[in-house]
Amino acid sequence: MHDYSLDRLAQGLREGEFSSVELTRSYLDRISALDGQYNAFITVDEEAALAAAAEADQRLATGDATALTGIPIAHKDIFCTRSLRTSCGSRMLDNFVPPYDATLIQKLNQAGAVILGKTNMDEFAMGSSNENSYYGPVRNPWNTETVPGGSSGGSAAAVAAGLAPVATGTDTGGSIRQPAAFCGITGLKPTYGRVSRLGMVAYASSLDQAGPMARSAKDCAVMMNTIAGHDPADSTSAQEVVPDYCANLEQPLEGLRIGLPREYFGEGLQGDVAQVIDAALKELEKLGAKLQEVSLPHSALTIPAYYIIAPAEASTNLSRFDGVRYGHRCEDPADLHDLYTRTREEGFGAEVKRRILVGTYALSAGYYDAYYKKAQQARRLIRQDFLDCFEQVDLIAGPTTPGTAFALGAKTADPVAMYLEDVYTLAANLAGLPGLSMPAGLADGMPVGLQLLAPHFAEQRLLQTAHLFQQTTDWHQHRPAGIKAGGQS
Ligand code: GLN
Repeated sequence: MHDYSLDRLAQGLREGEFSSVELTRSYLDRISALDGQYNAFITVDEEAALAAAAEADQRLATGDATALTGIPIAHKDIFCTRSLRTSCGSRMLDNFVPPYDATLIQKLNQAGAVILGKTNMDEFAMGSSNENSYYGPVRNPWNTETVPGGSSGGSAAAVAAGLAPVATGTDTGGSIRQPAAFCGITGLKPTYGRVSRLGMVAYASSLDQAGPMARSAKDCAVMMNTIAGHDPADSTSAQEVVPDYCANLEQPLEGLRIGLPREYFGEGLQGDVAQVIDAALKELEKLGAKLQEVSLPHSALTIPAYYIIAPAEASTNLSRFDGVRYGHRCEDPADLHDLYTRTREEGFGAEVKRRILVGTYALSAGYYDAYYKKAQQARRLIRQDFLDCFEQVDLIAGPTTPGTAFALGAKTADPVAMYLEDVYTLAANLAGLPGLSMPAGLADGMPVGLQLLAPHFAEQRLLQTAHLFQQTTDWHQHRPAGIKAGGQS
């Protein structure tokens, strides 16, 4: 049952094949038996999970169930959960128990979903390998000597290892798509503003977006139906009407124009990854898609622009962690200045401090025009490249990452090498576009992700394309050695 799709689970719950308490119990047991190997979870509250499951069972009995009633979900530990610790992977928030739920959590709870636990992540979502967590690195279930990707590495590993049927993540520069690629699952980063950011600990507010991480595109669609939509309490949330993301999944791809940016297939792309991507593209062609080369001429500006804008916004957002209001506070401060400096010295890890330094520098008077303003101008050009491209094609496709999951420790000493990991994912955030990564094959036994990018609010097109691909291929059903496969529809 830990391999069932969301539809199959909902059917089992509805028909009384198993109860939500039984389902939740079975996942909790798997977590306690297996998570020692992966470190995917930071916090699991068994009692609260089982209580929520019992409530869901009552609701199922009355016939008033939604597609998610009784389904256990693992949440990235960046979403505020009332009465349940929300650490954001940081010592700074190690003791933080939010008094309210993030909107996403509220919506899922209202739908009757069960909070299975909070997943490990890079501290404040800064990272591409999950090695920046205060709670230790997450290990990739496909090979525990490699990273699961980051920053939503705990969510990706949990789904890949069958410790949760589905999870939530956030993506500021690739943190849903890259770990999805490394762990062989499907992840969707929606259009900026499609899912509320309220109650999601802010990293870079103009880039952050929450989305589903699941075994299939169909499961992502089921999640989107509950989490997408306008939130009057989030001023950056979009007013756009929410479609039924499950409605057009079967619509054939005939005539769909897919653009292949030449900048995404050049130097830096690992050969065996390129082969897997080519084969996946041929499959899409067989399904009726028309492939054509396109160009995103400002691609080279992506990493420099992102690594100015994201740290700049982070330095501002993280100024609230000062030991006064919540979170960590140093012992016996001598005065206010000592309180601030020691609290931040102790509470933040090295990468977070690096970003705060870079961001503060980039925003300082005298450097603002040279860095932040320049980066914003580059961002505009990058966005325009995509808008121009989408005049010619309906979707853009390419690899999610230049290589497969790398060894733990391989890039920790070299932050720039780590930043280069994000070369294909950052642009979607800078341009506010939706993007999806799905399993496309294996290279040397490790999963490869195919990334699809679409125009603003065209998530349906991404999900439909991925779904049809998953109807004719079985890459999304491959499991790490030792994790049972099969049974997924
Ligand atoms: N790897 C990128 C970073 O470190 C993206 C992280 C994210 O999307 N949260 O900023």
